[in-house]
Amino acid sequence: MSEEGARRRKGIVHIQHEYCKKCSICVNFCPVKNLEIQEQKLVELGRCIACKMCQRYCPDIAIEIEEIDAKTVTTGEPGHSNGG
Ligand code: SF4
Ligand code: SF4
Repeated sequence: MSEEGARRRKGIVHIQHEYCKKCSICVNFCPVKNLEIQEQKLVELGRCIACKMCQRYCPDIAIEIEEIDAKTVTTGEPGHSNGG
């Protein structure tokens, strides 16, 4: 298992707290344990790989994943930009 690959953030998690009933379904489905319920609130820990399992299984459509485009991510590598 490559832990480094799993740690690279690929998605931004948008949580609609007014719809989320803290059922923990998404917490259990997330393969990288990016989601957690802390103090009665769903939080994300910044290592989403954008698999969208949470979005697919949330019964209340309270969570949405925004995929991070490769060119949006800052890699710190100069001289490599346009991808088309
Ligand atoms: S899309 Fe959802 S389930 Fe997948 S890694 Fe991101 S937070 Fe976890
Ligand atoms: S599955 Fe949906 S309602 Fe349940 S904790 Fe996750 S975001 Fe909230």
